[in-house]
Amino acid sequence: MAVALKHVLTDAEFTKLRDDMVKHGIRARGVRDPLVLEAMAAVPRQDFLPQELREFAYDDTPLPIAAGQTISQPYIVAFMIEAALLKGGEQVLEIGTGSGYAAAVLSQIARDVYTVERIGQLAEKAAATLEEYGYSNVHVRHGDGTRGWQAHAPYDAIIVAAGGPAIPESLTAQLKIGGRLVIPVGDGERAQELVRITRVSDTEFRREELADVRFVPLIGDEGWQPDNVRPGPAQRRPMPRREEAPEKAIAQAAEPFGAIDATELSPLLARIGEADLVLIGEATHGTSEFYRMRASITRALIERRGFNFVAIEGDWPDAARIDHYVRHRDAKPSEWTAFARFPTWMWRNHEVRDFVDWLHKLNSARRAENRVAFHGLDLYSMHDSIRFILQYLDEVDPETAAVARERYGCLTPWQKDPASYGHAALTGTFQTCEAQVVAALKDLMAKRNAYADKDGERFLDASQNAQLVVNAERYYRTMYYGSRASWNLRDQHMFDTLKTLLKHHRPGAKGVVWAHNSHVGNAGATEMAGRGEFNIGALCRKQFGRNCYLIGFGTDRGTVAAASDWGGALEIKTVRPSQKQSYERLMHESETPRFMFGLRDRTAPHVRALFRPRLERAIGVIYRPDSELSSHYFEAVLPDQFDEYIWFDETQAVSPLKAHEIEGYPDTYPFGL
Ligand code: SAH
Repeated sequence: MAVALKHVLTDAEFTKLRDDMVKHGIRARGVRDPLVLEAMAAVPRQDFLPQELREFAYDDTPLPIAAGQTISQPYIVAFMIEAALLKGGEQVLEIGTGSGYAAAVLSQIARDVYTVERIGQLAEKAAATLEEYGYSNVHVRHGDGTRGWQAHAPYDAIIVAAGGPAIPESLTAQLKIGGRLVIPVGDGERAQELVRITRVSDTEFRREELADVRFVPLIGDEGWQPDNVRPGPAQRRPMPRREEAPEKAIAQAAEPFGAIDATELSPLLARIGEADLVLIGEATHGTSEFYRMRASITRALIERRGFNFVAIEGDWPDAARIDHYVRHRDAKPSEWTAFARFPTWMWRNHEVRDFVDWLHKLNSARRAENRVAFHGLDLYSMHDSIRFILQYLDEVDPETAAVARERYGCLTPWQKDPASYGHAALTGTFQTCEAQVVAALKDLMAKRNAYADKDGERFLDASQNAQLVVNAERYYRTMYYGSRASWNLRDQHMFDTLKTLLKHHRPGAKGVVWAHNSHVGNAGATEMAGRGEFNIGALCRKQFGRNCYLIGFGTDRGTVAAASDWGGALEIKTVRPSQKQSYERLMHESETPRFMFGLRDRTAPHVRALFRPRLERAIGVIYRPDSELSSHYFEAVLPDQFDEYIWFDETQAVSPLKAHEIEGYPDTYPFGL
């Protein structure tokens, strides 16, 4: 066998790789503090790696070091140090020395870095490396870092590189007033939340949630107990029990159907019963069958059960354009297009347009007050919303408009890129606009009676937009790198909007919600619960109980409309056949190509068979088939998640609307260009 000679990288090559990493892997992802970027560019990460891993030093991943531990991913090291808000010259404590790499980066900024490592072998090795390469202001100690390092306290900043169940009090006690503790916390073994605690006074602390992260466990007196560390997700995966033959029970219970439009929906309507809210999910944001079946069920609910509105996982102002059209409201022709932002195909597609046209026609035969409305629950339209509020106020109350214009002006610099507002607020380089947007909402609500008397529908529009801006402002501040807090904020906003709608549309109003399975299915029955996340489905269950009916969808394979990255181009991608140990695989093995069944009857054999936790697939606007198992599957208990499940073994992508396909429509048409 020929032995390939491995190319050994030179120092110059390492430097080039490192500069690239700082530019593309760190700066481009939002870390902007020059002190952090310079420090990352200065420390050779390869020096902290075992010989055989040196060549991977600038891959943006954590890597194994000795004793089953890891050297953190460069981006997360930079992110955490930035979150500690260092200005230079501080006294800093690090818990979890590991290889010593993060301590070396910190040493470029801080005056002194004290670092504690629990595993003696690692502490020794790191101390030797740091000494060898001349990081003389780093001091390593072998011990339990959950107790801090009292001898050198108090600290300007403490950074913890391992995740514990709670915040160790010894650490907060060793902070200076004004000092920051950055630490991953969480009781889930899959993920923690990165939290920043700021000591405001002797007794007061402020807590901010910064990001979802994944670290090795923090083991010690004020961390996890050594024998209590829960096994990783791989070991927890449920094993199929052969003897049950759940696929047989599924086939038995399945109500098969063929063509979507010819499907007999009476059994489903009977199961829905008197529920006032029906939440209909989708397992992807780009599957034609899900959209068409959802529309078909919704038509039946409107025609046969008197439902009054549809509310979608789309932004309020965009859906309002559709609403004007379908309810024949006297709105000015608009110069803008609904759902024109990424991911456009999610709502600008033939499937949705067919429904919208149907609703427009149905409503034309109804009196105005009986028309079925169309609303958006989501909050990504901060700037469109501001524009509409100002437009509205200009018409009804120019004086208030002038005050509101001033207040919303705070957010103007971030018009193009609201996410960078969140970042600026997070790093303290920009004051938040919270007080201003809350005041603008209050002003509007204070005049509710005067305004709403003129036109209740338009007031609802304006006040919902103002509420949206308040929540979006908070959302962007907490969203930085996708934290639990921002997920919950968004779903809480969607649920509150839903409740506003129920109140707004006559007493006893009934609504249908269209959103992804991950918003509609009860989060309490999935691994989201372990991360402290909830969603519309969970909130509905809690507040309305059986009065809301949750419907989920699933598929085995086919094609889907999705992007590869956020903001990326639409692609028609192949959906991989479902993974072993997933619910989808079971449904597939039932050999029933299309079916639905109810899940509320816990004594039914198929429900009993589905009660064992399994994996479930979720495809959003992004689909990455290559990393499918880790990025698109999560654990769930299906009969606790949904009341009904609808299966399409093979599915096709939605068909996005093309420009020429809407020629000849009136200029009130919401999908216009
Ligand atoms: N900052 C490190 C990454 C370390 S990984 C680097 O750049 O390489 C986390 C480390 O925390 C592990 O080495 C683990 O052994 C250590 N650790 C876990 N619990 C600890 C505790 N209570 N005190 C000190 N170190 C701990």
